[in-house]
Amino acid sequence: MADSYNGLPVPKDGQRITYKDGQIQVPDKPIIPFIEGDGTGRDIWKASARVFDAAVQKAYGGKRSVAWYEIFAGEKAKAKFNEWMPQDSIDAIREFRVAIKGPLTTPVGGGIRSLNVTLRQVLDLYSCIRPVKYYKGTPSPVKNPERMNIVIFRENTEDVYAGVEWEQGTPEAAKLIEFINREMLKGGKKQVRTDSGVGIKPISIFATKRLVRMAYANAGPGTNGSQFFITEVAYPSLDGNYTIFGQCDAPSIELVKRIARMPRNGNDRPNNPPKINKITIAGTGAAAPVHHAPPEFGKSVAEEVRSVLDSIYATHGHGAWKKKLMINDRIADSIFQQVVTRADEYTVLATPNLNGDYISDACAAQVGGLGIAPGANVGDGYAVFEATHGTAPKYADKDVINPGSVILSGVMMFRYLGWNEAADLIESGLERTIEKKTVTYDFERLMQGATKVSTSKFADAIIENMAAGVLTTA
Ligand code: NAP
Repeated sequence: MADSYNGLPVPKDGQRITYKDGQIQVPDKPIIPFIEGDGTGRDIWKASARVFDAAVQKAYGGKRSVAWYEIFAGEKAKAKFNEWMPQDSIDAIREFRVAIKGPLTTPVGGGIRSLNVTLRQVLDLYSCIRPVKYYKGTPSPVKNPERMNIVIFRENTEDVYAGVEWEQGTPEAAKLIEFINREMLKGGKKQVRTDSGVGIKPISIFATKRLVRMAYANAGPGTNGSQFFITEVAYPSLDGNYTIFGQCDAPSIELVKRIARMPRNGNDRPNNPPKINKITIAGTGAAAPVHHAPPEFGKSVAEEVRSVLDSIYATHGHGAWKKKLMINDRIADSIFQQVVTRADEYTVLATPNLNGDYISDACAAQVGGLGIAPGANVGDGYAVFEATHGTAPKYADKDVINPGSVILSGVMMFRYLGWNEAADLIESGLERTIEKKTVTYDFERLMQGATKVSTSKFADAIIENMAAGVLTTA
């Protein structure tokens, strides 16, 4: 381990996170590099770090703490080292494995790669994970935002973001178009117009498998209810089939497929668990949506589900479905309307890169928007947690911006470290603060009777509201 990166000494009292047998090993005082970010990142990081430290202190009473270690990227790195992204910063993340960052300005022109893209490539952070969840009191444009509780696993290395593309009018674009028209589309009616820009959208079996495996690994029983559903949002192939799940070999997929092969009624399965995913029907592993309908209807659904499950018990694995995952597939246009109209039918979405980008923002917009949308780029043994929004430069250094995105990215980070007590405290502190209508400008303008507070005061309120401990209700 180097003694310093970017000329800053490594904290002497902290220890490295290590990786063994597919698991990270977290010491009691892990060294965690952070990039505060540009623009509003400065306000956000100050507020977030106070929330993180207060939660860890409250949860572990000094037994655990984070040895924060600043590394540089973006405008601060440019000013200090005349580089947008010093190699030392990348090396430090590689060394310490887990990092957190605020938003960074994307430098325009000059062939400068964005830090995110570089980190994804260098550390092979192949999954972008975006949990989207409703916190009580959050202003929303939809009637039932509480139905949203979805984790999106977005492939992070391929698709149209692979960067295999050529600008319209360049000799390279002309050459590729000429080749495609001459060799690949020879004799057909279809031709690529010669004044097009062109790109290649690769989606490999390799990248899809590992993304889906990670989604499976994180969709186990116990995380969000009694059953789990993976919805793969794929482009339909030319023959109208979906392209991806058939190629996956995660051990659980065969089990999942057995459930998925149960008789269908049109596009729906007769006991489609997403429709019965709220009120548990004791002993069956299923649930009924009685909160969506009159109680008598809910009761009759529950009875019907129980009778169907009883009738297939002997022929369908003696209740083994309780420990299995349900898999669905959806095409992209369908899932866009489904996450608005029936969000509670989905738990985990595994998606290609571009679709995941759109869908995660569309989901986030229903539960508070980008100001509180967290994210993480995760590979095998490395993870970088980050705000999903940009630097919002017009609000920089004004102490007004919503720090929620970085704070909830910290919640993800603590869960990744296995520090769930700290994560729970932050989530409950944030939810209570919003419920009490103490919010930053972006929420206040959408709420009746709310009190607008600064970034730093919002953090104070979260810390204060942690004091009551963890919420016990879902
Ligand atoms: P942006 O920084 O995300 O800001 C756009 C608008 O979104 C803001 O004006 C504000 O809306 C709202 N917003 C963003 N963050 C918010 C927060 N924390 N709380 C409340 N509202 C928030 O997008 P941009 O202006 O297009 O991009 C600025 C710079 O950031 C660019 O250099 C871009 O490349 C970069 N960027 C970086 C990342 C990253 O590092 N992950 C991501 C995206 C963009 P109102 O004005 O309506 O209040």
